[in-house]
Amino acid sequence: MPRACPICGKPVLPRTENRAFPFCSARCRLLDLGKWLGEDYRIPGPRPGDGVEAPESPQEPEGDDA
Ligand SMILES: [Zn+2]
Repeated sequence: MPRACPICGKPVLPRTENRAFPFCSARCRLLDLGKWLGEDYRIPGPRPGDGVEAPESPQEPEGDDA
C-alpha cells in the first residue's frame, strides 16, 4: 500500500528511491517545511516605536528662569 504525500496526496515512492521521503517530491517537502516555518516564525508587524528615531531633545539653555 503506497504511502500518500501529506502535502498533495500523491503516492510516495519508497524511501530507497525517494530522497524527499515521506513526501512525493522535494517540492512538497519544501512546502511542508515552509508551512512549519510559517507557523513557527510569524513575522511580527512593525512594532510601535520601532524604526522611529527618538526625537532629539532640543538643547535648552540653562538658567532660563529669568
Ligand atoms: Zn506531494
